[in-house]
Amino acid sequence: MLTKRDFYINGSWVAPATARDYQVINPSNEEPCAIISLGDQADTDAAVAAAKAALPGWAATPPRERARLVAAILDQYEARLQEFAEAISMEMGAPIDFALEEQAPCLPWHTQNFLKAFEHIEWVRPLGAQAPGSAVVMEPIGVVGLITPWNWPVNQIALKAIPAMLAGCTCVLKPSEESPLDAMMFAEFCHDAGIPAGVFNLVNGDGAGVGSQLSSHPDVEMISFTGSTRAGKAISKAAAETLKRVTLELGGKGANLLFADARDDAVEWSVRRMMENTGQSCNAPSRLLVERSVYDKAVAKAAEVANSITVGPAHEAGPHIGPVVNKRQWDQIQGLIQKGIDEGARLVAGGTGLPEGFNRGFYVKPTVFADVKSGMTIEREEIFGPVLSILPFETEDEAVRIANDTPYGLTNYVQTSDARRANRLGHALKSGMVEMNGKSRGAGSFFGGVKQSGRAREGGVWGLEEFLEAKSVSGYDFGLKDAAE
Ligand code: NAD
Repeated sequence: MLTKRDFYINGSWVAPATARDYQVINPSNEEPCAIISLGDQADTDAAVAAAKAALPGWAATPPRERARLVAAILDQYEARLQEFAEAISMEMGAPIDFALEEQAPCLPWHTQNFLKAFEHIEWVRPLGAQAPGSAVVMEPIGVVGLITPWNWPVNQIALKAIPAMLAGCTCVLKPSEESPLDAMMFAEFCHDAGIPAGVFNLVNGDGAGVGSQLSSHPDVEMISFTGSTRAGKAISKAAAETLKRVTLELGGKGANLLFADARDDAVEWSVRRMMENTGQSCNAPSRLLVERSVYDKAVAKAAEVANSITVGPAHEAGPHIGPVVNKRQWDQIQGLIQKGIDEGARLVAGGTGLPEGFNRGFYVKPTVFADVKSGMTIEREEIFGPVLSILPFETEDEAVRIANDTPYGLTNYVQTSDARRANRLGHALKSGMVEMNGKSRGAGSFFGGVKQSGRAREGGVWGLEEFLEAKSVSGYDFGLKDAAE
C-alpha cells in the first residue's frame, strides 16, 4: 500500500500539521490502496500563505517564461505516463487502457490547447479611437483555490491548474480525497518542471475541511470548482463572505435527440458514450430521446449494445468498463435503478446487483430503461453510473421541450442527417454545449454549462480569461513597450 501523507507546499513535501489518515480504496477490489492525510486549517493557511508570497514574482514573470515552465510539465508527463495512468486506474477504477488512452492524455490535450490560446492573449487592450489613452489591462486575479472531483481527475486539474499558472496566478489544489494520487504526481511534475516554489501547492483534504477553508479564505481571490451541484452551492455560500470569484462546473442530465434520419451507428454510439467511464461523466448523454418511428428498433439495439459491454477490474487490459468509484456511489446507483423499476420504466438491460461473476468491487451492470417518462426520478436525477434512460418523442418541438425540462444544462446531443435541423437545435437546446452526430468539442473550445450545471467556461481562451481580472486604465501611454508583451 502506498503511504503519501505529505502536502506539497512552497516547493517541498511537508508533513501535515495534525495527523489525520485517510484510506484510499481501490474500487476494483474494495481494498485500501493508499494512505493520505486530510489537512486542517493550519495546512490550508500554510499553502495559501505560500501562494500569496509567490504571487508578485510569478505575476511579474514574463508570459513567455511562464509558458515555457508550464510546457515543461508535459516532459514529466511523457516520462511517467504509465505510472500516472496506473495511479488513476487504481484510485478511481478506470480500466488501464482507458486511463492510458483517455484519462491521462487530458493533461497534454488541454495544456497544448491552453498554450496555443495563451499566445493570443492581449494583455493591454486599447479601447479604440473613440477613447484615446484608455485601455483595459488584463491581470492575474491572484491566489486561486482549485477543488476537483474524482471522475476525470487529471482532466479537471489540467483545466484549472494549467490556465491559472499561465495567467500568472498562484494556486492551491485540493483534489478529491477519492483520487489524490494522480494529483500528487501532478505536483511532482510541477516541481520537476521547475515551476517556482509557492506557485503550485497541494493540500489533500475533504470538502468540510480544506474544501470549505479554501472557499472562505480571505487571501483566496477565486475558487474554481468541479463537482456536485450540492457542493457548488455550499462553496458559493462559503465564498460569499469574502466576495471572491467562484466558477462552477457541476452535474448534468444530458439529452441525446435521436431522429429517424440519424446515421446507422447512432444508437450504438449513444449507448457506448453513456457507458464510457462507467457513466461517471457530468456530460454523459443519459437521456436518449428517440423519434417514435424508430423507437422500438432503437430500444432493441440499445439493449443489445449494453448487453455486449463487459465489466471488469481496472488493472486488466481491454475495452471493458470498470467499477464505480465507491460504495456510496454504488448504493446510490442501485437505489436509482430500483426506483426506475418501481416507477414503471421498462428495464431492457442490466438491473440491480453485482454483475454475474463478481462478489466484491463496486461493479454495476450496464443498464438500460425504455419507456421512461418525463418526471420519473431516473429522468430527473443525475445517476452518475452506467444507466441509460430512453424516452420516445413525436415531434422536434416535443423533443426540445423534454430536453430542456431539467434543472441542468451542460451538454446536449443531436443525431440527425438534416443539417438545418442540427443548426436549429444547436440554438434551441439550453445547455453550455451541444454536440452533433458524435462530433466532440474541437481543440480550443471550452467546457461549461448553464443553469444548475454551473457557468464555468473551462478550456481555450475562455478558460484562461477566467483567471484574469480586467482593469480599466485611462491615460495609458501606448507608445511605451509594455512589460507584459
Ligand atoms: P463532491 O461535489 O462532493 O466532491 C467534489 C470535490 O468537492 C471534492 O474534492 C470534495 O472533497 C469537494 N467538496 C465536497 N463538498 C465540499 C464543500 N462543502 N466545500 C468545498 N469542497 C467540497 O462530489 P462527490 O461527493 O465526489 O460526488 C457526488 C456527486 O457529485 C456525484 O454523484 C455526481 O452526481 C456529482 N459529481 C459531478 C462531477 C462533475 O464533473 N460534474 C464530478 C464528481 C461528482
